[in-house]
Amino acid sequence: MAKAVVIDGPAGSGKSTTAIELAKRLGFIYLDTGAMYRAVTLKFIKSGLVDFSDESKIRSLLSGTKIDFTPSQVGLRVLLDNSDVTDEIRADEVDEFVSEVSALPLVREFMQAEQRRFAADNDIVAEGRDLGTYVFPNADVKIFLVADLDTRARRRLIQKCADNNQLDSFRQNLAKRDKIDSSRRHSPLKKADDAIEVDTSKLDFNQQVDIIYQICRKKFAS
Ligand code: C5P
Repeated sequence: MAKAVVIDGPAGSGKSTTAIELAKRLGFIYLDTGAMYRAVTLKFIKSGLVDFSDESKIRSLLSGTKIDFTPSQVGLRVLLDNSDVTDEIRADEVDEFVSEVSALPLVREFMQAEQRRFAADNDIVAEGRDLGTYVFPNADVKIFLVADLDTRARRRLIQKCADNNQLDSFRQNLAKRDKIDSSRRHSPLKKADDAIEVDTSKLDFNQQVDIIYQICRKKFAS
């Protein structure tokens, strides 16, 4: 049976960088479920969908949606309906709407089915919000990554090469997304009872990867 390591937690807690490095060390495939929600959000924005209660439009947009990941020299590229959207899905406009789109039950069910299909045939390190609680309740290793809001906003600032005076708006966007993600009805952001919590606020990158790598080694050695 395929193996699964899942890392959940709020935006900016260090999930992506940690999951990518961990997947490399374990020889597993990295699955960025946030990128999938971002890609579909981009599709909704581009198609001019403004009424998120329009279920028939949402259903028809989703039914023609194809999301793929392809490795490249500069990391994983995200393909939406065969077009490379790796950079576009990180735009501020997507940041603005992604949590609202992700709260839609139709969107969640579509994504979760895709994620389970992917994991059926591959050993994965997946990152997201609802993986340990909902999508992969039987995952071999469940990590819940956290960091304080200030640390997370600063990381986003560096990641986006943004100016210091944008710190407050980053902080606000993260806080707003945390709130929507953890209060939605369908599969909210939540620590699974059997997940191990790792606070990365005071850890550097190598430390946080090492801690999780050792947890995985212990699990897969037994
Ligand atoms: O991980 P990232 O910040 O790129 O995720 C973008 C958004 O996608 C999150 O704020 C959340 O609204 C949504 N998401 C989700 N469930 C996941 C992964 C991401 O709802 N498993």
